[in-house]
Amino acid sequence: MTVNQADISRGIEALQIGKLPVCIHASLGSFGYVEGGADAILDAFLEAGCTVVVPSFNYANELPTPPDRRLERNGWDEADDLYTDDETLSPYDPSSNRITAADMGAIPTALINRPNRRRGAHPIDSFSGIGPLSADIIGRQTPRNVYGPVRACGEGGGYVLLMGVRLDRMTLLHTAEQDAGRALFRRWAVGADGELTETLVGGCSEGFHAFEPVIGQLAQETTVGESRWRAFPIQATLSVAAAAIRTNPKITHCGADDCDNCNDAVRGGPVTA
Ligand SMILES: [Zn+2]
Repeated sequence: MTVNQADISRGIEALQIGKLPVCIHASLGSFGYVEGGADAILDAFLEAGCTVVVPSFNYANELPTPPDRRLERNGWDEADDLYTDDETLSPYDPSSNRITAADMGAIPTALINRPNRRRGAHPIDSFSGIGPLSADIIGRQTPRNVYGPVRACGEGGGYVLLMGVRLDRMTLLHTAEQDAGRALFRRWAVGADGELTETLVGGCSEGFHAFEPVIGQLAQETTVGESRWRAFPIQATLSVAAAAIRTNPKITHCGADDCDNCNDAVRGGPVTA
């Protein structure tokens, strides 16, 4: 099946998300063939007046935790391998277009390469945005406020839109973990100021399909080409998911006995006090 920009526009209209902030997680391959690719998708959202926000993480910026800053329950054995042990990394630069593209996908890659995009001030788990509200939304991110942009989308009445992907891609559920009282994991990187900087990040998402019976009914749905689109209202989804985590902390667990991320998250995350 071939999908064009007009088909994308009809999908946006069907979900009634025009003019709103939309945090997108997508599989371009889920559509069939898209004329114009990821850029045509971005253009359709911008024409509809949306502000598009995507994860633009770059794990290559992560450094080992300084030995005197290690924390209990921080989601891994600190001796585990990192993507890099390069201690000569240059300071984080939001004008850089480098992302971990294999994990982020085609739409974040297209967005980050647009000249007028904004990229958040988190050296590892940045979000990037484009559109009328992108300066305000992306400006909310700091190394310690990793999910500021997602929250800002919610305050603006926005949605998380899953395009042909499942709940295990929904970063918003890590925000819900925070709202349920968990501490987020700490990871280190060279900040924009050149200083070694502690950042907050999310953990494992592999078990998030377990939220389907909890939040599934909140989604508005449509189909574009072969891609199933599900739009979740951020504020309602956050509060329902956070309540579910408080009631049953293990709902976030991926099921792997040896997953340090999930084991430590269920116990409340790192001990920071
Ligand atoms: Zn896990």
